[in-house]
Amino acid sequence: MKLITNKVYGAEDILPADSYKWQFVENIMREQARSYGFREIRTPVFEHTELFNRSVGDTTDIVQKEMYTFTTKGGDSLSLKPEGTAGAARAMLEHGIYNDGYPIKVYYLTGCYRYEKKNFGRQREFHQFGMEVYGAASAFADAEVMCAANSIFERLGVKNITLEINSIGCPECRPKYLAALREYFGSREEELCDTCRSRLARNPMRILDCKSPICSEIAKNAPKVLDYLCDDCSKHFDNVKSCLDAAEIHYKVNPTIVRGLDYYTRTVFEFVTPDIGTVCGGGRYDGLIEELGGQHTPSLGYALGIERLLLMLEKQNIEIPQPPVCDLYVVGLGDAAKVKAFNIIEGVRSASLIAEGDIVGRALRPQMKYADKIKAKFVMVIGDSELEENCAKLKNMETHEERDVPLDEGFFDKFYSAYMDNNNSKLLEQLEV
Ligand code: ATP
Ligand code: MG
Repeated sequence: MKLITNKVYGAEDILPADSYKWQFVENIMREQARSYGFREIRTPVFEHTELFNRSVGDTTDIVQKEMYTFTTKGGDSLSLKPEGTAGAARAMLEHGIYNDGYPIKVYYLTGCYRYEKKNFGRQREFHQFGMEVYGAASAFADAEVMCAANSIFERLGVKNITLEINSIGCPECRPKYLAALREYFGSREEELCDTCRSRLARNPMRILDCKSPICSEIAKNAPKVLDYLCDDCSKHFDNVKSCLDAAEIHYKVNPTIVRGLDYYTRTVFEFVTPDIGTVCGGGRYDGLIEELGGQHTPSLGYALGIERLLLMLEKQNIEIPQPPVCDLYVVGLGDAAKVKAFNIIEGVRSASLIAEGDIVGRALRPQMKYADKIKAKFVMVIGDSELEENCAKLKNMETHEERDVPLDEGFFDKFYSAYMDNNNSKLLEQLEV
């Protein structure tokens, strides 16, 4: 087969055979978000480029190298969202949601776009689940979002996942730390990679996040941000740890976490596994809302990569339950019986069960084969004589047992309640003529 084109490099299709896994994890995310008091926000796939320049930050890899930016026919510069925080914050401000009073708690499920090299767990279109809290300065808020993320991993039964936390200070204490970093990395400038050399003046904290082996080796002995925190940041970090202790969440302080986005202040955190690395990252961004033109609003959030989460579940052999495909398959033999079958199928469907029938014009045998393939739990066959007596043959596909059942008025209700009793071996008896 010669197609005129294939999918774009770095993008993936989610096919019917796999989409149930996405639905399963997304449902758990939605349920957990709800139980923590978060409501969904959906924002456009593109924004004015300036939004990301200002929020994600001019000096980050995302803005410098990874954004899908284009000019519209009207001459505007737009970018596909590389992450979900900026759009959510913009929408919160634009619609004055803050007038409802703080805190505002939102979650999102969104596609994200980054012009990156395709790799294990790295795509150009990927998906994030994220949570954001606006207007909450207390350390309980930091702990709450970490607990919320943790609850998703717990419900999924993820093993070996570690919450690593750090504080990267605030505009008050960070300059001193940046100066110390410049001095340290400056003394070894020749050994750094090209990108990190350019980071030295602009944003030396980024060097701590460099994935090149030489830079990360040098970074190991760099000054630690926790030694440079001001009293307020230090106290906040202690409070966050106490709240996590109170919630009985296990964590590890990792002073090398800096995160890849500029808007973070104070708390930053990641959920890390040996199988896959970082699956989820977030932190506090007390300056972001002001940067976007709003009032000073202490805020925080995190994002969890869904592709990486699914890879991790697969690596850990965590099975996602397959949803049932077919409760009842109905075969009609002959024109009148086919019409009756169609009527029954619709009736079973409106009783909230999954029913299927022939829509491609197959004979009885291939229909039985097909019913087997889609793992139909029961198959009903209606022929002319059954039609006359207003009954049908009903077969339990697991036990191969078969009985005649009446198709009277109460059939759908009886079938539904017998089926929901979850005792399929008794269902035939209950329905029998
Ligand atoms: P990394 O260090 O792996 O590049 P990041 O710091 O850029 O991640 P964030 O921007 O914090 O990641 O995004 C949060 C989560 O989104 C990541 O932990 C990861 O699960 C997921 N993610 C980020 N970039 C990609 C990508 N290109 N493909 C798939 N998932 C991604
Ligand atoms: Mg990245």
